[in-house]
Amino acid sequence: MDVDDPSPRVGGGSGADPPRIRRLEESVVNRIAAGEVIQRPSSAVKELVENSLDAGASTVSVTVKDGGLKLIQVSDDGHGIRFEDLPILCERHTTSKLSAYEDLQTIKSMGFRGEALASMTYVGHVTVTTITEGQLHGYRVCYKDGVMENEPKPCAAVKGTQVMVENLFYNMVARRKTLQNSNDDYPKIVDFISRFAVHHINVNFSCRKHGANRADVHSSSTSSRLDAIRIVYGASVVRDLIEIEVSDEDAGDAVFKMDGYISNANYVAKKIMMILFINDRLVDCTALKRAIEFVYSATLPQASKPFIYMSINLPSEHVDVNIHPTKKEVSLLNQERIIETIKNTIEEKLRNSNTTRIFQTQAVNSSALTQVYTQKDKGTEVKMASGMKSQKTPVSQMVRTDPRNPSGRLHTYWHGQSSNLEKKSDLVSVRNVVRSRRNPKDACDLSSRHELLMEIDSHCHPGLLEVIKNCTYVGLADEVFALIQHNTHLYLVNVVNVSKELMYQQALCRFGNFNAIQLSEPAPLQELLLIALKDDELIGDKNDEKLEIAEVNSTILKENAEMINEYFSIHVDQDGNLTRLPVVLDQYTPDMDRLPEFVLTMGNDVTWDDEKECFRTAAAAIGNFYALHPPILPNPSGSGVQLYKKNKDCMASGEHVDSTDEDDIDHELLAEAETAWSQREWTIQHVLFPSIRLFLKPPKSMATDGTFVQIASLEKLYKIFERC
Ligand code: ADP
Ligand code: MG
Repeated sequence: MDVDDPSPRVGGGSGADPPRIRRLEESVVNRIAAGEVIQRPSSAVKELVENSLDAGASTVSVTVKDGGLKLIQVSDDGHGIRFEDLPILCERHTTSKLSAYEDLQTIKSMGFRGEALASMTYVGHVTVTTITEGQLHGYRVCYKDGVMENEPKPCAAVKGTQVMVENLFYNMVARRKTLQNSNDDYPKIVDFISRFAVHHINVNFSCRKHGANRADVHSSSTSSRLDAIRIVYGASVVRDLIEIEVSDEDAGDAVFKMDGYISNANYVAKKIMMILFINDRLVDCTALKRAIEFVYSATLPQASKPFIYMSINLPSEHVDVNIHPTKKEVSLLNQERIIETIKNTIEEKLRNSNTTRIFQTQAVNSSALTQVYTQKDKGTEVKMASGMKSQKTPVSQMVRTDPRNPSGRLHTYWHGQSSNLEKKSDLVSVRNVVRSRRNPKDACDLSSRHELLMEIDSHCHPGLLEVIKNCTYVGLADEVFALIQHNTHLYLVNVVNVSKELMYQQALCRFGNFNAIQLSEPAPLQELLLIALKDDELIGDKNDEKLEIAEVNSTILKENAEMINEYFSIHVDQDGNLTRLPVVLDQYTPDMDRLPEFVLTMGNDVTWDDEKECFRTAAAAIGNFYALHPPILPNPSGSGVQLYKKNKDCMASGEHVDSTDEDDIDHELLAEAETAWSQREWTIQHVLFPSIRLFLKPPKSMATDGTFVQIASLEKLYKIFERC
């Protein structure tokens, strides 16, 4: 290699010269930047349409060829572009919308960076035709790499501007190839235009494929939002919409207004449709979308993929529009408060409108439900294999149950085995009762389930409810307790207890309406039960007895299979395999290491001979299984890592184990444990606490049983600090 060779050396050792730093050519910089602003054809269309709207257009027509790669043409009847501005029109950072940085605070237009047109000229061939008011003719001019390719040519033109982008990404081979291979961008373009059409109801939009007679979106200016939605999304959507509105003008900094339409219980779709405009900008807000999804799946599980049109308006100085290269996301002052208010408004609206739906929407038979679930939940497969795998963990380290307190578990069964068998006839009779009432219409209307829900309401502690509704999650204090702050108070919350209660309540709320988690492989009940019984100290090595207990329990579950499937979406097939579990909380799968214990609890602890008790105990079993227990693998952080030593003898013999010999650690198991613990921590913060805030009705007992413990009052702490 030449000594002066400036080319970078990969992985050069300590003696190598550092690579030279050079200034990139402007055209390279521009092309890189362009690739960021114009990521795909649909982003070009969005920018062009926004320009048309900024120009005050009342008609915007879009034509697209080859998903936008060959041609994108956007024509409007806006104010047009002055002749004298044409030379700099497509230079980077030329704009008519912003002059000083401070203007960003109050900007009303959608564009402000002066980058979109410039970017297009770096990655495609751009031709602009425009005419301004009072001119006799217009001008046409082509642009390349930010500059005019020719002097503007006079031409005949109709009011407004037409921008044509041809051969997008002609000079970015990889991008063009990926876009060609991936699905054509046309559906995305149609989606954008549809959204604009719903919001800008006084503008006529059309979007068609080049050469097509029919437009795929064709909206005409109207004074009614519902009309606009009907024109774009169809009458069937409009039929199921409810109007929603909230304004929070007295809330100091969190002042905002929101209005829109949301779907009701009868609207069933495969995907959520969320059209969100913030200060008239089409944006995404993942946090808000997730919050809304949560509300729907809790209040209307079977209509949990809603249609939402929402327009939020805030003082422009509360919105930072400059956080995303394509302006796709914005950041709001007091976002959490705003989301909370919107969430509560939607929840209230749905609860009030949902009294009738139970009867309407249950008119599906269970086999139809089964089909829907399987289709819907293809994405939620859970690998049983991983659940089984961790059985290799040393038994001594698997804290399954407290051996000193086996009540409610095997112990009860052990002493009551014969009576359980005797109960069989009772069992049949209850099933018959339940079955005869199992008219699909009534699934959610069983009075005993209602009684249980009423009990939850009447036992609710108003003070605690207020705390959890308005608390801030601080973090985990240890393996079981999390720290939350409410006003000036800090509380320790027992995560296991609250999650158990939340899951119990959700199991009853979603009763008969669960989505399903499909196990990737059917799990034989018998085997699960044997695994659960394996470590039971009370039976010890009496294998015959274990087999018998497993047999009896799996028989009980098979006999009740139809009912637990219909009400709790726990599906046991004819061969006695467990194939599906319910989704109790969206985006959450229980710890499959606890599945064997759950199956045993279902067989053993559920009261089958009384409807109400049956639902209560089954929901409690679900609550216990889905609760966020500490993972079965011990926490490897800190000195816990010693537990993952392969050679356990030295530990057993009490020898001091200070040396951390790398090779001695079971890395696979350690990694598994680390993942389990960090996932749990993430879930507690991002799934559990948001759901608790939304759904939990904390029972009074939680105020005194150590679930919530107030540990500090900040006022007092401040006083102490002052004295120091
Ligand atoms: P920005 O919209 O951020 O200002 P653009 O590159 O999208 O930047 O557009 C540059 C300028 O070109 C705009 O500020 C506007 O003055 C003008 N312009 C672009 N498209 C149109 C249009 N359809 N009608 C009128 N003027 C337009
Ligand atoms: Mg623009």
